[in-house]
Amino acid sequence: MSAGGDTTRVLDAFASAFGGTPDGVWQAPGRVNLIGEHTDYNEGFALPFAIGLAARVAVRVRADRAVRLVSTHGGGLIELDLDSLSPGTATGWAVYPGGVAWALACDGADVPGFDLALESTVPVGSGLSSSHAIECAVATGLAELTGASFGVHDLVRVTQRAENSFVGAPTGILDQSASLRGAAGHAVFLDCRDQSVELVPFDAAGAGLSVLVVDTTVSHSHAEGGYASRRRACELGAEVLGVEALRDVSSADLAEAQGLLDPLTFRRVRHVVTEDERVLATVETLRAAGPSGIGPLLDASHASMRDDFEISCPELDLAVETTRAAGALGARMTGGGFGGSAIALIPVDAETGVREAVLAGFARAGFRTPDLFTVSPSNGAHRLI
Ligand code: ADP
Ligand code: MG
Repeated sequence: MSAGGDTTRVLDAFASAFGGTPDGVWQAPGRVNLIGEHTDYNEGFALPFAIGLAARVAVRVRADRAVRLVSTHGGGLIELDLDSLSPGTATGWAVYPGGVAWALACDGADVPGFDLALESTVPVGSGLSSSHAIECAVATGLAELTGASFGVHDLVRVTQRAENSFVGAPTGILDQSASLRGAAGHAVFLDCRDQSVELVPFDAAGAGLSVLVVDTTVSHSHAEGGYASRRRACELGAEVLGVEALRDVSSADLAEAQGLLDPLTFRRVRHVVTEDERVLATVETLRAAGPSGIGPLLDASHASMRDDFEISCPELDLAVETTRAAGALGARMTGGGFGGSAIALIPVDAETGVREAVLAGFARAGFRTPDLFTVSPSNGAHRLI
């Protein structure tokens, strides 16, 4: 998979679909979440970083109100009409650019018709947020082309509205915050209550480490229902404990909380509360000692998701166990759960052995062969041409 800002493929796709050249090309990355899972909708903390795999969009403004879309992934030319754009009017991947155009217009932008070609190196449905990579690339490009003064903060809101109201996915702000605000060599420390961001140095390569992604390529069928039920449990927990959000509960409160909550809700709450504290500890450790100290926090995060939040699955658990046994300093599933990817922090010289161990372990278990690749903290959305 290619990284960086190679525009050849997207320009070719644009020329063959629409003829000529675009007004500009914008790129936005996928992300992995280093730590802080299912904390965003609890107004807590997360620590994702933007990766080198990215979506690129070539866009040219049209004189009429048509939106025409092509992707190098196929599916042919899709046409939308800006004036009749509303939730439910687009299908397939058109919901992402369509949703962003709609959300920008809801925010008062004078969005023109446009032709758009998409090319993306972010694997689809692997928990690396290929959908937000598209949305953030489109939002950055369209905001610039409309001449509206949308800052990054506004684009986080626009893409969240697109995702929640147009696509219909009840997600928080984690993915777009990483894709829009990421920076090379840094993780994005996100406070989901006030949406503030601090960049925290995360130079894994400089510490002789790499972040290996184990994409299990599985997505278990209860993923959507599982996400919704975890959100409901968190809301119930906050209500019973009398707080605005679980962000307001600390681990010192847990003993008392146990007496107030049913056992299942308590475990859901304990995950969120301890995960928030692990994010803060990870930030502190990165600042004080660098990446090599965060392994145990990644491990503890995985155990909490496996045992308390129950969003892991056999493939993710195996990825975590085998990477760790083969020399990873720490490993955890990343993303919403029930499939998708795990990440492992490994010494560069152990990488070959870790890869072999994972492939052998998956083969032995009879699981699908996972995709293995390393990622490093990269720049957020920006214009390429
Ligand atoms: P994730 O964001 O975790 O990768 P989602 O299910 O949220 O998974 O988003 C995946 C969807 O994004 C795909 O079903 C498809 O509609 C769209 N998508 C991602 N990459 C591309 C691409 N290169 N071309 C067309 N559609 C894409
Ligand atoms: Mg997505």
